[in-house]
This record gives sequence, C-alpha cells and structure tokens, in this order.
Amino acid sequence: MALLEVDSIDAAYGNVQVLWDVSLSVERGETVALLGANGAGKTTTLKTICGGLTPTSGDVRFDGESVGDLPHEEVVAKGVAHVPEGREMFTDSSVRENLELGAYVDRSGVEERLAEVYGVFPRLEERADQRAGTLSGGEQQMLAIGRGLMSDPDLLLLDEASLGLAPVLVEDVFAAIERINEEGTTVLLVEQDIYNALGVADRGYVVKTGRITLSGTAAELAEDDRVAESYLGA
Ligand code: ATP
Repeated sequence: MALLEVDSIDAAYGNVQVLWDVSLSVERGETVALLGANGAGKTTTLKTICGGLTPTSGDVRFDGESVGDLPHEEVVAKGVAHVPEGREMFTDSSVRENLELGAYVDRSGVEERLAEVYGVFPRLEERADQRAGTLSGGEQQMLAIGRGLMSDPDLLLLDEASLGLAPVLVEDVFAAIERINEEGTTVLLVEQDIYNALGVADRGYVVKTGRITLSGTAAELAEDDRVAESYLGA
C-alpha cells in the first residue's frame, strides 16, 4: 500500500475548477516530484493533499486512511507536513522560536526534534537566537523546511523550496532534501527546477492545466522532451 494515494481528484476555487481527475501515489521512502508550469495546478494539488482545500470529487488516502475531507490540522496530526511557497515565518521571533512553533502537534519531543533539524541544517543552530527576519533567503528557506520537520512528519510536502535562491543555495536546499529523505521522511516536492528536482526524485509527475499528462521514473522523465515542453504553456 502506498503511503499517499491521490485518487482521481477534482478541485475548484469557488466554481472555477482547476484540477481534473488527478491521480498520483507516493510509496513510503520515496521522493516524488510534481513538475509543471506556473498555474498548472501543483500548489493546488498539495493544498488538497494536506487539507487546505477539499476535493470536489475523488479522494486522498494517507497510510490507507481517507483524509480528503479532514481539515489541515488533522492531516498534520496524522503525519503530513506542508512547507508552503513563500517562506512564511514570524520575522520578529528567533529561529528557535519559529522552529518550536512547528512542533505544535507534540510538545514532548521538541528538544529531540530540534537536534534532528539542527543536524540537517547546522546553520540554523548557529543562528538559533537570531531574529528570523535577519536571515538570508537561503537560511529562511532552511527555516521553513526545518519548521515542517519539527512535527516529525512521515510525509513532507515541499512547495517550490528552491524558488528565488542563488544557485549555490539551491544546491544546499536539494542536498538537504536528499538527506531528509535518507533519514526516513517520504517527500513530495513541487518544483519548476526540473533538473534539480529530477536529480533528487525517484519518480515524477507532470501536471499541465490541471491534469496529469506524464509520469515515470526520474531517469525516464529526464530524457523526455515533453517535460520541458509542458513548461511552455500552463
Ligand atoms: P505556481 O507555481 O504559479 O504556484 P501552480 O502550478 O502551483 O503554479 P496553482 O497555484 O495550483 O498552480 O494554480 C492553479 C490554477 O488555480 C491557476 O489558474 C490559478 O490562477 C488558480 N488559483 C490558484 N489559487 C487560487 C485562488 N485562491 N482562487 C482562485 N483561483 C486560484
């Protein structure tokens, strides 16, 4: 049984439908990339998985259990963490305080979780007492991912983790994603950076105008010209 199964979901904002019959699965231990142009429906797919939006039809199953109708907090409590695009954080609070806020599901393991996050992102430990607003863009992205890890998720959903970062920081972020996965967290990432995403992923899906148009192993997709072509129009 897959850890995550998205089964033929449709989704809409009000009466504007943006996802049609989207199905995908993520096995425990995998890193899977969801690729596609601006506005294709990647963010909406993640929102629907983590309870930010209820599918209008179809279902989302996590660890065999239907979660499509559950609110975000309950999906998080079941072991899904969502790192949204845009690195939202409390800029006046310290790095450590921001991380502690990510652990709201279970206060008991906070110190242990902090140690694990600092293991992945030593820079955050060095800057633990610094105000989050003073971090560089790359450090803020590490903090956003670190906050997601604080709830000790089985599945980490990452939305455009590398967007807007300098190339050297992009490498750091993808190296961290690989390490997080090696340490046992299953990852579903949304990316416009096809090359790096397929570099860390086992498999991928391409979404175009709200529909899955291609899927395959990362190696197959890396060789397929249709992947890059799908970015030419949303
Ligand atoms: P991006 O990389 O730009 O975030 P995306 O692939 O993640 O692109 P979505 O954000 O899922 O795409 O958007 C899919 C479609 O839904 C787009 O047409 C977008 O304009 C529309 N959309 C997104 N959010 C809303 C909203 N809150 N209300 C109405 N329409 C929305």
